[in-house]
Amino acid sequence: MDTVLEERKASIFAQELGCGGDGSSIGCERASVSGAVSQRACVYCGARVVLNPITDAFHIVHGPIGCASYTWDIRGSLSSGSDLYRNSFSTDLREKDVIFGGAEKLQRAIEEIVQEKKAKLIFVYATCIVGVIGDDIEAVCRQAEEKFGIRVIPVKAPGFSGTKSQGYKLACDAMMRLIRPHYDEKLKKCGVNILGDFNLAGEMWIIKNYFHRIGIPIVSTFTGDASYETLIKAPRAAINIVQCAGSSAYLAKRMEEEFNIPFFKVSFFGVEDTTNSILRVADAVGDAAAVKKAACFTTEERRKAESFLEIYRPHLTGRRAAIYVGGGFKAISLIRQFAEMGIKTVVVGTQTGKQEDYTVIRSLVDADTVILDDANPAELERFMRETKADILVGGVKERPLAYKLGIAFCDHNHERKHALGGYEGVVNFTREINLSINSPVWKYLKEA
Ligand code: SF4
Repeated sequence: MDTVLEERKASIFAQELGCGGDGSSIGCERASVSGAVSQRACVYCGARVVLNPITDAFHIVHGPIGCASYTWDIRGSLSSGSDLYRNSFSTDLREKDVIFGGAEKLQRAIEEIVQEKKAKLIFVYATCIVGVIGDDIEAVCRQAEEKFGIRVIPVKAPGFSGTKSQGYKLACDAMMRLIRPHYDEKLKKCGVNILGDFNLAGEMWIIKNYFHRIGIPIVSTFTGDASYETLIKAPRAAINIVQCAGSSAYLAKRMEEEFNIPFFKVSFFGVEDTTNSILRVADAVGDAAAVKKAACFTTEERRKAESFLEIYRPHLTGRRAAIYVGGGFKAISLIRQFAEMGIKTVVVGTQTGKQEDYTVIRSLVDADTVILDDANPAELERFMRETKADILVGGVKERPLAYKLGIAFCDHNHERKHALGGYEGVVNFTREINLSINSPVWKYLKEA
């Protein structure tokens, strides 16, 4: 096991290859092993990716300029209104600020944005160095709120203060801080909030359109195509549905406890998961007409998707897929989606999956499938080679790895250009997998 560190073995199931924890659970939800060069990002990045799609928010990164450029415009989230979120602002902390403190610089940055840009909502991120020098960003934000009468919300996210999942939690806390003052228990609850969808390539619009056709109102979306005005309406919803549970289940739990809004998890990836999610939402909040419309709509869309898949299955059946994504919900949906296409999943891993996710994953794959939590490139390379994967589905950090190994690749993360959610996503995803996996280029690479 030369490419797998001893400390990493508890986080890998690889029956055929001699790894595998205690056989019943996998090591997950823990700090990355030192020296293993994890694919995970930092706490600040976790918070930023969740909050970034709020279209009319300003993001001030209190730290060195590198932290700001690291996460600048990294989500391909689309907006139907403002495009302020495409900017990144930084206090650009230098040596002098580290010695004498950067709080004043932060005050000036907030003032400049308020005066020049007419901001309504600002998030201020504390990065590693701010965690070390101890600038009181909580106090600076509070004073700015009082002085300017706008929302200025601190996100204390030094990169060293936990894992990327901690960043998700901090983003959820920031959103609760934003919407809590707008909760009124006397208001009648109606409609649905969609949590954990970031409107990548317009996927939120596809899902909203389904519910519009069925007659179920969408109140707020977190955070794809969200704005200050739409977010503060969220406490009025009757239920929350959570797509990316890794980033947003905590927000749903807090809204259940504090606003009495129940929630359940959904997925709009693949025919089976999309259909089940629409029917479940209609059952939960729809009237009889909506339930009937949902049944008719999903039956028709399912029939069309099945006919489409039948054309592609002969080109895909028997191929082998590796999956390495951020959270467990997407990995689970992708395994099902590959099965719908006739593709076997031979490697599956996540950056921030939870024990319950891995239990579901194990129930869906064959005993010889390799399962990894918080993998590194050396492990991915080894297991993709040994399982003879034909395609890797991952994000921007996995793309060069696949190409260097001569393996096809599909981007299912921030930068995807085609919507992969909903029934439209089934068509786009199948076409993309087919084009990539059956490209003649791989044959020439392997022969070279
Ligand atoms: S680890 Fe620290 S220094 Fe690096 S990007 Fe994250 S917050 Fe910035």
